Amino acid sequence: MGRVSAKQNILVIGGGVIGLSTAYELSRRGASVTVIDKGEPGFGCSYGNAGWITPCFALPLPMPGMFLKAVGWLLDPESPLHIHPAADPLLFRWLFGFMRSMRAGKMRESVRALTEISKYSLEAYSKLSVETGSEFGFEKKGLLMAAQSPAGVRAAIQEMELVAAHGVPGRFLTGEETKAFEPALTGKIEGSVYFPEEAHAEPLQVVRAFAAGAEKLGAKLLSRTEIYDFEIGRGGHIQSVRTTRGKFVADQYVLATGSWSHPIARALRLRVPVLGGKGYAMITPVLSPNPSHPMMLIEKKIAVTPRQGAQAGTLRIAGTLELVNGDDSISPRRVNAIVRGAREFMNVPEEPQILELWRGLRPCTPDGVPIIGRASGFTNLTVVTGHQMLGLQSAPGSGRLAAELVLGEKPTFDPHPFRASRF
Ligand SMILES: Cc1cc2nc3c(=O)[nH]c(=O)nc-3n(C[C@H](O)[C@H](O)[C@H](O)COP(=O)(O)OP(=O)(O)OC[C@H]3O[C@@H](n4cnc5c(N)ncnc54)[C@H](O)[C@@H]3O)c2cc1C
Repeated sequence: MGRVSAKQNILVIGGGVIGLSTAYELSRRGASVTVIDKGEPGFGCSYGNAGWITPCFALPLPMPGMFLKAVGWLLDPESPLHIHPAADPLLFRWLFGFMRSMRAGKMRESVRALTEISKYSLEAYSKLSVETGSEFGFEKKGLLMAAQSPAGVRAAIQEMELVAAHGVPGRFLTGEETKAFEPALTGKIEGSVYFPEEAHAEPLQVVRAFAAGAEKLGAKLLSRTEIYDFEIGRGGHIQSVRTTRGKFVADQYVLATGSWSHPIARALRLRVPVLGGKGYAMITPVLSPNPSHPMMLIEKKIAVTPRQGAQAGTLRIAGTLELVNGDDSISPRRVNAIVRGAREFMNVPEEPQILELWRGLRPCTPDGVPIIGRASGFTNLTVVTGHQMLGLQSAPGSGRLAAELVLGEKPTFDPHPFRASRF
């Protein structure tokens, strides 16, 4: 595809971290950008996530040897990863794709692509607040993966070796060393891996930084504007979209609707097999002692993030991934499982005060790799969605790649692993 004029009007559908990073990158390239969101920008999955910017977690969900584990997730409603068995054709197709992606070769290709885009993004975040004039709580305190069992330690070391091959350093700490390093770990600890280069930030503030950066460059952001139909002309040219606030006409359209993408794409007869990976995050008052590093509590797959600035005095505890098709109901059983799990590692009170409970649907593709690419069959549509557990940490790179593909520029990253046509 040849380079198209950067002066085009571009409509970005979806104002999460991915839509707004794309809008920011398009605006930096001189495009005239409008972002629409059915709610308030930033209040989808990007609102309350753990805030990690951690290339050490640039791993796809399906990994070799996971088959038996996946069967266990179907059976145990309290497992950190749970698949609710349901007669849903999308779920069956998704699971089939998930199983097929557990091959070692596919996993290696995915890890390479995800670490590359995440490392670029970590670097980009360190410049973003100066570029946009917005603070977003960016801190580089590393990430500690703490394990209570020999199997947990083995899993952490395996992960360390996998990402070390892609230039992400980590080091092993014994149980005693771990407790000296992070006194908030009051429970039994077998060992840990510390990744010193990793960062974290406040997720909603990150979205707002991208929004502020894009707006400064002339982008328009429209809330409560929900797309519900497309008008398609000859040769797959989208002529306009209909929304709850009228018709919009643009030269190029970008679909960045996170876990809502599947039904929207289906209206276009496009395959975008994205399911929601429901997770919870709770804000509690600080613990005593309070963690000073972001931590992954391995056996429970719980993410703990200390907070700074105006949020100091509170702690974010996040966890669980339950595969759902749009269901965002709150399960008290799974919320309690997070609290109990965290208590095994840290000094969490019997009845912790939950200042805010949030749930979000991670947009999950079957192969664990986001979709960033031009939609085949259309002349003017680019899809950027399916960022599973990595949307925040890969947003600058994802936005950049999407903007390059929209504008026909030479892509910074190999677009092949992300191509939309693979489904
Ligand atoms: C508990 C939890 C912890 C997590 N922790 C991390 C972490 O530490 N690091 C990390 O990188 N990622 C993390 N994630 C994942 C991360 O939050 C997501 O990958 C990311 O937010 C996805 O961004 P998005 O912009 O694609 O989706 P969203 O933020 O959901 O944005 C999509 C937007 O599209 C809009 N939309 C939908 N339909 C329409 C329509 N018809 N018309 C107009 N607008 C529409 C929605 O309103 C929404 O604002 C976590 C997720 C969860 C649930």
